[in-house]
Amino acid sequence: MDYDRNKALLLELQRAAGTGNDRCADCGEPGPEWASCKLGIFICLNCSGIHRNLPEISRVKSLRLDFWESNLIEFMRSHGNLWAKAKYEAKVPPYYYIPKSHDCMVLREQWIRAKYERGEFLDTRVCPDPCSAGSREGCLWKLGKVRRQFQKRQFLLSTREGVMKYYSKESRGPKAVISIETLNAMFQVEKIGHNHGLQITYITDGQTRNLFVYHESGKEIVDWFNAIRAARYHYLRITFPNVPEPELIPRITRNFVKEGYMEKTGPKQKEAFKDAFALGQVYLGRRDEGYEVRDDLPQKVCVKKKKPVITLVTPVREFVFICENDRRQKEWMDALNEVITQL
Ligand code: ZN
Repeated sequence: MDYDRNKALLLELQRAAGTGNDRCADCGEPGPEWASCKLGIFICLNCSGIHRNLPEISRVKSLRLDFWESNLIEFMRSHGNLWAKAKYEAKVPPYYYIPKSHDCMVLREQWIRAKYERGEFLDTRVCPDPCSAGSREGCLWKLGKVRRQFQKRQFLLSTREGVMKYYSKESRGPKAVISIETLNAMFQVEKIGHNHGLQITYITDGQTRNLFVYHESGKEIVDWFNAIRAARYHYLRITFPNVPEPELIPRITRNFVKEGYMEKTGPKQKEAFKDAFALGQVYLGRRDEGYEVRDDLPQKVCVKKKKPVITLVTPVREFVFICENDRRQKEWMDALNEVITQL
């Protein structure tokens, strides 16, 4: 009899207003059917799988299938998702990526570990300032261009210098110096063929470049991802001091739906181009914020081949794009002008 009564109490508690229990404590998925009775939180099936691997800090029970003793129900009542959020997410830095249910495993697992196992966001923790959080040095496995094999490369991220660099063993100088302005990172597990696969995208000389990297440690790769986000956040804060925080956060890194837009010599449809910019690899602002599109080259810039060009002027630098022909140039110009006028 206790069995049924307790189950009803528990399900009532899961639905109770103002407790936050009606959504997974870790990924926000509605209607969680599981709980960690050690942490006192309601979680979804997916996240329960991660908690199951952390017996030191968590203990998973099904709301419907397991037996719940009265004292455990009381424990759940006195804790719950809102309580846990206030405790374990007290100091999540603004740039830290909080995964959703559709995000890849490594992001969700590290979020849960960071919160409960390492206590990274507890109120008692001293938050790093975004500048130091956006500086990092270490090795990553990078997919080679020629032999299509992963090779260990030294990476360096510096918020202060506004760049990310990487080095190979053979060369003395950096193999690439990447401006944080156009830097983007997103997890691409299937494409890279590794559960910790990260795609780093940037623009150099008007061309989109990709680096495909991973690290054996889930913590390392997620820390790299958030370090890049911290560096981007710092850059955006300084460059766009008047843009409110909620508008800035989605521009830190993007998971773009369309790919390959600028790797082509010209866009097949101008929509693809518009989306690429609107989605934020290059932050596009309004004309009155200092953005401009021109059909000539900046001073001191020469292009060997005589092809039509577009110069995109941003408050910090100018981007030059080389177009296939005059018609393409006009299409890009129209698309870009439309964006900077509309924003
Ligand atoms: Zn979940």
